[in-house]
Amino acid sequence: MSNSDRNRFCCLHFIPHSEFGIPHFLVNPYDNDKVCVETDGGGTMTESPQVAAEIAEANRELAGASPQEILRWAAKRFHPRLLMATAFGAEGCCVIHMLADIEPGTMFINLETGYQFPETLELRERIKDRYGITVEYITPEQTVERYEAEHGGPLHNLRPDQCCHDRKILPLRRALKRLDPAAWISAIRKDQTADRGQAGVIQWDAKFNLVKVNPLLNWTKKEVWAFILDNDVPYNPMHDRGFPSIGCWPCTRSVNAGEDDRAGRWAGKVKKECGLHVIEQQDGEGI
Ligand code: SF4
Repeated sequence: MSNSDRNRFCCLHFIPHSEFGIPHFLVNPYDNDKVCVETDGGGTMTESPQVAAEIAEANRELAGASPQEILRWAAKRFHPRLLMATAFGAEGCCVIHMLADIEPGTMFINLETGYQFPETLELRERIKDRYGITVEYITPEQTVERYEAEHGGPLHNLRPDQCCHDRKILPLRRALKRLDPAAWISAIRKDQTADRGQAGVIQWDAKFNLVKVNPLLNWTKKEVWAFILDNDVPYNPMHDRGFPSIGCWPCTRSVNAGEDDRAGRWAGKVKKECGLHVIEQQDGEGI
């Protein structure tokens, strides 16, 4: 059964899920252990006040849970419509390591802008060798060469928001339409930026109309690195050379002692996020 068929049939499932004590948006009529997120019939999910309440309930259930417990919950509820987007940061590598054990069939994607460091691309291959997990590259329609030629040069310096929009957000939207996930996993931590500080472990992502799962939200950087070292998790060697946060090479520099970990991202600009993890509220009901 295709995802579009599954969405259509889920919407025709008339049994009130609340009778079973199971959140409505988490029930699949074919397998009560799997997920069906409420859809509009076309594969696009919608948030309702009920869904917002159910997400709040999931957060209560997962209060104090470990990242692995959160991921097990997500896999049980959402697989095979569970997706992880990773830039292969230290946190993302921890989550991939956990998912390799919990649900290696998760869809894994990387936004390959054409501007990533060679070390980042090599890490994708090391992860494949270690876990047998292939992280799918999601690429913009235009190569870097064509994009820069069309705009009279690179935009990452003069108009980085447009560059991120064209080379990350638009390709991601196309990929989400094709892959049709019900939920996606990020590896953000609360203490990384002010926006991330507002996130919940489970939240509604109004920007992409998905449930978002943030298993490492309450971890510290120290906990991330203890996990990497304890489990011999593959990581980007640039972290050992003063790059705590690694994005595209034109927008990433190493940081000096005492600087914020993200000081090297879009250094000298107000911009601190590519836009993927900025929390957007809908009608005041965002989680
Ligand atoms: S991080 Fe920089 S190079 Fe990468 S997409 Fe954004 S602006 Fe462009």
